[in-house]
Amino acid sequence: MTKNAIVVGAGIAGLAIARALSLKGYQVDVFERSERAVGASIRNFGMIWPIGQAAGIQYELAMRSKGIWQEIAKKVGFGYNQTGSLHVAYNNEEWEVIQELYESFISEGRIVELLSKELVINKFPEIKSKNLFGALYSGTEAIINPRLAIPLMASYLNESLNIQFKFGKSILHVENNLVFTTDKIHQADLIVICNGADFETLYPSIFQLQPITKCKLQMMRFKSRDANYDIGTSLCGGLSLIHYDSFKVAPSLQKLTEKYQQEMPEYLSHGIHVMVSQNELGELTVGDSHLYGLTHDPFDQAEINMLILKYLQNFCSTKSWDLLQSWNGIYGKLTNGASHMFMEVEKNVFVFNGLGSSGMTLSFATAENVIDTI
Ligand SMILES: Cc1cc2nc3c(=O)[nH]c(=O)nc-3n(C[C@H](O)[C@H](O)[C@H](O)COP(=O)(O)OP(=O)(O)OC[C@H]3O[C@@H](n4cnc5c(N)ncnc54)[C@H](O)[C@@H]3O)c2cc1C
Repeated sequence: MTKNAIVVGAGIAGLAIARALSLKGYQVDVFERSERAVGASIRNFGMIWPIGQAAGIQYELAMRSKGIWQEIAKKVGFGYNQTGSLHVAYNNEEWEVIQELYESFISEGRIVELLSKELVINKFPEIKSKNLFGALYSGTEAIINPRLAIPLMASYLNESLNIQFKFGKSILHVENNLVFTTDKIHQADLIVICNGADFETLYPSIFQLQPITKCKLQMMRFKSRDANYDIGTSLCGGLSLIHYDSFKVAPSLQKLTEKYQQEMPEYLSHGIHVMVSQNELGELTVGDSHLYGLTHDPFDQAEINMLILKYLQNFCSTKSWDLLQSWNGIYGKLTNGASHMFMEVEKNVFVFNGLGSSGMTLSFATAENVIDTI
């Protein structure tokens, strides 16, 4: 007899788990409290970002997930753009780190190029030349537009795998293979909770003991008045070098971190590093900051957006840009350094969460792996 499963939450984690369960033969229902997913999964850059993942299993999961995005995007018809990524260096210390990363990544077999100042300016005319040393280009990164891709992904999973989505249905309680909504009790052989930053609302006493917190990020979106404006890749300023795990292999990273601590403490205290992605509509998504805690101020800080823009203007021409939107997003972040949490909270009830800043990059393959362990 076919087993049935219930997934709570229709963000990327819930979609990836629903897909993985369905491929294992489960009949899957996904309950999402909102009328459409409006959490972290539609508020992000849409960066599918293997470059940020450490060598080994994390990098492999990112590459596998990327393949799944690419395959589904092709079938469904939402934009999937293999932009690659460019990390730019504007001082000696950043350039040193970038050269070390290039050596290390080449030895790992990653597709990277070390670009001189001249090559960067030639290839990417929107990059500022003043004080530029050079850049690291990686060919593996891709951009999807999450605001389109997440709802289309749910429709695709419904049509191709018969996964049933129940939008506007909040899960109030889970117990003994039963899931409670306001009007009904649903039974399932397996339940997986993917409730993102609302992790403490189900099984609160268990969550109190877990190494998990919440991270709030501020973001902005711009459109250039020049219809042909094209950044040509996804852009990252030097501050991103101290953000991703995969960059820890650079021996000079400590020196660079100390330089930032001395010269730009206000950036470090807000957890700011600056990246830009461009979607198929030409819109430019810019972020971000990282503030940690269980309760966040709901208001955005103008100072953070100003710092982000000031830093961005060091490396990217923004004169023709108009601000379209600003917003914040919150995700669950593990404090023990793990890349995700997959925990059995009672028999046949699991929680999948804590994907941090890499949920779009890692969810699909990670979900397949964790479902394999059941
Ligand atoms: C600003 C920002 C930028 C980012 N950029 C990137 C990026 O470029 N690349 C990348 O790889 N990652 C990025 N991330 C991280 C990524 O977006 C997250 O890791 C991922 O979206 C988390 O997915 P999730 O499904 O766990 O959470 P969410 O997307 O928040 O989904 C959780 C869902 O559960 C639902 N829910 C909660 N409680 C209940 C309940 N009781 N009943 C029913 N439904 C419920 C919510 O309504 C929500 O829809 C970024 C994150 C942010 C915030």
